[in-house]
Amino acid sequence: MFEKILVANRGEIAVRIIRTCRELGIRTVAVYSEADANSMHVQMADEAICIGPAPSSDSYLRVDRLISAAEVADVDAIHPGYGFLSEDAHFADVCESCNIRFIGPSSRAMNALLDKAASRALARKAGVPTPPGSDGVVENEAEALAAAKKIGYPVLIKAVAGGGGRGMRIAHNDISMMKGYHTARNEAEKAFGNSGVYIEKYFENPHHIEFQIIGDGRGNVVHLGERDCSIQRRHQKLIEESPSPLIENKFKDLRKKMGKAALRLAAEAQYNNAGTVEFIADDAGNFYFLEVNKRIQVEHPVTEEITGIDIVRLQIMIAMGEPLKLSQSDIEFRGHAIECRINAEDPADGFRPSPGRIEMYYAPGGLGVRVDSHAYAGYTIPPHYDSMIGKLITYGKDRREAIDRMARALNEYLITGIKTTIPFEQAILQDPDFRRGYYSTGFVEQLQRRGSQTG
Ligand code: ADP
Ligand code: ADP
Ligand code: MG
Repeated sequence: MFEKILVANRGEIAVRIIRTCRELGIRTVAVYSEADANSMHVQMADEAICIGPAPSSDSYLRVDRLISAAEVADVDAIHPGYGFLSEDAHFADVCESCNIRFIGPSSRAMNALLDKAASRALARKAGVPTPPGSDGVVENEAEALAAAKKIGYPVLIKAVAGGGGRGMRIAHNDISMMKGYHTARNEAEKAFGNSGVYIEKYFENPHHIEFQIIGDGRGNVVHLGERDCSIQRRHQKLIEESPSPLIENKFKDLRKKMGKAALRLAAEAQYNNAGTVEFIADDAGNFYFLEVNKRIQVEHPVTEEITGIDIVRLQIMIAMGEPLKLSQSDIEFRGHAIECRINAEDPADGFRPSPGRIEMYYAPGGLGVRVDSHAYAGYTIPPHYDSMIGKLITYGKDRREAIDRMARALNEYLITGIKTTIPFEQAILQDPDFRRGYYSTGFVEQLQRRGSQTG
């Protein structure tokens, strides 16, 4: 058994990981930047080590400082959380070469799914449908135009290294394609240090459906069902739920088909530990592979709620070398779960980030309510990082009950001193189409357009 784990992250996910470690009797080491000295993960961990100034490039992304901290604290393993170095194969390798277990997929699996273009190619090899698109990275304007002509407009220019909804551009014709190609490359270089872009068919109003997978690296891989993450703003998830209304209401056989496709890809990549295979699906029941997130995902709690499985616990057991003691038929889905991401942003002002001091804080509770957050009264949200300050998850015996509970819990959630996305999510929860489960990735934009029309 691991005795001590270093958590190479901050915010709610650091708190989330520390909680499971505590239940397992594993001691924890938090790392923090100078801007995070008052953060909850620092309070909650058994030990805490400052790893540098506020910018993440000087702290949470510094491999040398993380490894020094891990050596000083003498930990057995590092949990990278999500974002930061979680999908960095080099970091995983450095950990292993220092005899520190990396709690995530092997660098071999990460390299097999290195970027979106390599992952698409692997998916095709595994017989998993992908959106029509270019064969890998497009190297110049002429190639880009030729690819778009073959696919047919509209197309999406996507950064191979993109993430967090950034690095995507729609092109409707040759002119916007030529312009978009260069801007997309420049933006990708700046944001991800990799200017590679590829082109794929742009689907109007698809559904984002993803499968949680977990493998032990000994040939056992299972999926823990799907999550519908179609409620997005600018390609960033806002509300997630499981099971997917599209599958439940319309295409019952999709769960089996998509789940099998996800597992075929996992086998092809020899995937181990937790990951997510993301797809888009259209209203005719076709589905296409998007990417694999090679880490714990923000929205993992909805899966935990309906399966009763602690995914972080499984990640730790697998990293210790334990075999997965689950087969696909052991996994049962019960009830319905929804998650709202609570961001420190002002929905009335274009979702402008709203860092600052939280004055009053009261988190909702009661039956079927879970809050994963590092926020507290008096906490000052630093401006340097992600604006997500927590996740509110509700569970119900069915979708209706989970939604009613979410509406109730959002109403109870008291956060003053800063702006949050709560009012916007309350409006979504009241929307008749959302309540019926009739929504796609175009939903938020449609809602905003209706809102501005009616004043
Ligand atoms: P999830 O589906 O888990 O929400 P996201 O894509 O929203 O995945 O990413 C989760 C976190 O990781 C966010 O903080 C996001 O900003 C960050 N992130 C993901 N991919 C990248 C990337 N390639 N570069 C920088 N940050 C990323
Ligand atoms: P990221 O790494 O930023 O998460 P993804 O490839 O997972 O990038 O795409 C994020 C979101 O962008 C999807 O959930 C979907 O809403 C939208 N999207 C991505 N590819 C397409 C596509 N080909 N057609 C339509 N929408 C897409
Ligand atoms: Mg994605």
